[in-house]
Amino acid sequence: MSDRPDFAPSTLVIHSNRSYEKQSNSILFPIHQTATYIHESVGVTKGYGYSRGANPTVNALEQAIAAIEGTKHALCFRSGMSAIHTLCMAVLSAGDHVILSDVIYGGTMRLFYQVLRHFGIEYDYADTSSAEGVEAALKPNTRLIFLETPANPTLKISDIKAICELAQAKGNILVAVDNTFLTPLLQNVLDLGADVAMMSTTKYIDGHNATIGGSLATHDETLTERLRLVRKTIGSIQTPFDSWLALQGMKTLPIRLEAHQKHAGIVAKWLEDHPRVVKVNYPGLDSFPQKKLAEKQQLGFGGMLSFELDASTEDSLHFMDALKLCTCAESLGSVETLATNPATASHCDLTREQREALGISDRLIRLSVGLEAPKDLIADFEQAFAATIGSSK
Ligand SMILES: *Cc1c(COP(=O)(O)O)cnc(C)c1O
Repeated sequence: MSDRPDFAPSTLVIHSNRSYEKQSNSILFPIHQTATYIHESVGVTKGYGYSRGANPTVNALEQAIAAIEGTKHALCFRSGMSAIHTLCMAVLSAGDHVILSDVIYGGTMRLFYQVLRHFGIEYDYADTSSAEGVEAALKPNTRLIFLETPANPTLKISDIKAICELAQAKGNILVAVDNTFLTPLLQNVLDLGADVAMMSTTKYIDGHNATIGGSLATHDETLTERLRLVRKTIGSIQTPFDSWLALQGMKTLPIRLEAHQKHAGIVAKWLEDHPRVVKVNYPGLDSFPQKKLAEKQQLGFGGMLSFELDASTEDSLHFMDALKLCTCAESLGSVETLATNPATASHCDLTREQREALGISDRLIRLSVGLEAPKDLIADFEQAFAATIGSSK
């Protein structure tokens, strides 16, 4: 990438936004907690006018994200959802059609079904594991293809490159990819041809469950200006304090990701070998049907997995309640191992039939594997098995 300085990611996340504060030489970039900026003379500023438009601390986070995305242009938002919403407001008009990955974050479904639908935005879900699935869903008015890969919560993988090539051949269709599960360090979606890389920075970027935030990155300067305009107009910019916290978290992103995926690999294998586990979804397992595609486009398998127990839904939920070290909480990508039941959390808006069709059974447990020692996590699973469904058939 020509835009990317010649540093490794672990260096970039620490030094990409290194402009020091001159008053005290504080090593941390300061929190510019301000609504407005003084005009040196009427109309003359240092580039900042009002913090709904831009803010130096938000900009520092944007530079760090742009650096790891390998582009010059990244923008940060109040949440992952406000990043997706701002993107839709910026590139769609009433009458446009959107194709969404059929397995996708529940909040993204809600945005289209409960909100954008009422503004004349049409959409369809498609099997985005291949370009053919997307091609079958194309309409003359398709303007945006929004992929999530690996997808929440089954880890289903979309073929980013093939879909981007299809979109390019059709012309006038943007491809955006929700890359929350891997971040550009484990999957660079812009390199694979996507027009827009989206992340919920709430997850791995922050990494400590301290903030809610989102980002969009692109190589397209015109699109960046349009996004900036919409963000300023609707007020969806990230706050200075949350940007600052995310910046601190991000400094350890490469080293955290390495540990997350190492631990996830160990836990996935242990679960797969357990007699009371019927299924484990983890792209790094040989049993994962799309492992080849994962190896082709990803630079790692990440820290997310989901699994099903050989037990009823009720007993599976008891198993979750019996976990002591793993925490039952929504969200993912933090230092703590988090377990969720998608049917009652992220995908509760769908009917059971809709969920079943997507491989999201009521008993599916999603795990964001944290940085605790894998042996302690496994001991926690062992005691939860013993306390609930037992550990042999
Ligand atoms: C959490 C999440 C979002 C939404 O992000 P928020 O920061 O919670 O608004 C979008 N996509 C994926 C894959 C997520 O995990």
